[in-house]
Amino acid sequence: MINNIQEFLIYRETKVREALAILDRTGVGLLLLLDKDGAFERTVTDGDIRRLFLSGFQIDDSFAPLPKIQSLVVSENTSRRDALNIMNKNAINHLPVVNELGIPVGILDRREIDEQILLSTPHMGEIEREFVDEAFRTNWIAPLGPNVDAFEKELASLVDIESAAALSSGTAAIHLALRLLNIGAGDLVFCSTLTFAASANPIIYQNAEPVFIDSDPYSWNMSASALEKAFIWAVQQNRLPKAVIVVNLYGQSADMDSLLSICNRYSVPIIEDAAESLGAKYKGRASGTFGLMGIYSFNGNKIITTSGGGMLVSNNKELIEKARFLATQARDPAPHYQHSQLGYNYRMSNILAGVGRGQLRVLQDRVEARRAVFHAYKEGLSDIDIIEWMPEPDWSYSTHWLSAFALKQSKTLITGAEIVKKLAAEMIEARPLWKPMHLQPFYSGYMYFSHDESSIADKIFDTGVCLPSGSNMSSESLNRVITELRKILK
Ligand SMILES: *Cc1c(COP(=O)(O)O)cnc(C)c1O
Repeated sequence: MINNIQEFLIYRETKVREALAILDRTGVGLLLLLDKDGAFERTVTDGDIRRLFLSGFQIDDSFAPLPKIQSLVVSENTSRRDALNIMNKNAINHLPVVNELGIPVGILDRREIDEQILLSTPHMGEIEREFVDEAFRTNWIAPLGPNVDAFEKELASLVDIESAAALSSGTAAIHLALRLLNIGAGDLVFCSTLTFAASANPIIYQNAEPVFIDSDPYSWNMSASALEKAFIWAVQQNRLPKAVIVVNLYGQSADMDSLLSICNRYSVPIIEDAAESLGAKYKGRASGTFGLMGIYSFNGNKIITTSGGGMLVSNNKELIEKARFLATQARDPAPHYQHSQLGYNYRMSNILAGVGRGQLRVLQDRVEARRAVFHAYKEGLSDIDIIEWMPEPDWSYSTHWLSAFALKQSKTLITGAEIVKKLAAEMIEARPLWKPMHLQPFYSGYMYFSHDESSIADKIFDTGVCLPSGSNMSSESLNRVITELRKILK
């Protein structure tokens, strides 16, 4: 907003010559005509002055005979979105802002307000293009090739795991993991409830049955006590799950030691959904490497991206080799097209793997940038005591893929969805937390085990918000989010 409003004010007795000098000085093309009480009366543009001259005005005449008109004006409470809509509808670039007494307090400038802050945008490094160009130069455009092989090796070495299979998506990786464990009709699979639907959908692809597990309040990830309860129930039913899908939320690992010790007791493997936690650590070791298999996602909004893609990782080499086989239509090694198993078209293309190789090289920078975003929010809003930031236990090194908070509920009357809506009016893209799976209409018929008497996931979801968290966010954007959030929560 232009605040030095004094420079733009004229009165009925102001001479046209003076007004032209102001227009020349400010370069904004807009003057604010005030009545004798100092209240805003109308705008005067350079076009208005041109028309005055054409109708016979002289340069030393005053504005006294200028007709009264209703000019467009907004209040201090008008949202950025509404102001922009008015500008668009009227094809103008400036709008005066007046206070409740009608006194002008500023001028909105389109260039300043027409700027959306997005949740999480792709952030390319310097050398992705070189790998992609190389793929073109060598005509390796297929869903196999040197970039695919190298991307798998480079990622495996980065997270320190035996092998990795580059796939078309993180969802495909979860699906293959279930398939590799021979999970099918009638089987149970435990899954974190507070997650994106892609964690659970592959259970249904395999005609198996999900059982949803609550979060704990310390990490917002799978609760060991809810998991224990689910196992006790499963034992009573004589139906142990065939796998547990543990999700690492918003860039933070779950408490893997507690979860592993329970799963090991029942000899049930963990599939770690690390779609959101590439680059994070649990007790110093890479997130995604604790289960029998782990998956990563390179979707457009993740911490690094290939526009779309995923990776299945494991210390069990045979599993990954089998995954590559299933992901390329399960074609038997025969000269003719022979298939003895159901296959999928799930491999990553050599072009996208090139993007991934470039992105891997900047992963650590991206992690540090996202962590800095989270800490800037935390610091900038430290005086707002109703905010509970996503906790980071001391065993966790979170990437803070998305900066998330919930409200300390007892003191608040606003929901996460309402906060998101208010930020949207200021052209800030925030999101509620993932709606828990056990609350999804599609999954309403399945079992759910909560952390204690009340569900932690429900509570976090009600008041939770993910803030814009891109690794390429400017400090101006960060400050804008902080300012607007303070207005909403104060
Ligand atoms: C993004 C995401 C997925 C799915 O990954 P895609 O590559 O988009 O298929 C799975 N689980 C979680 C938790 C995710 O955030």
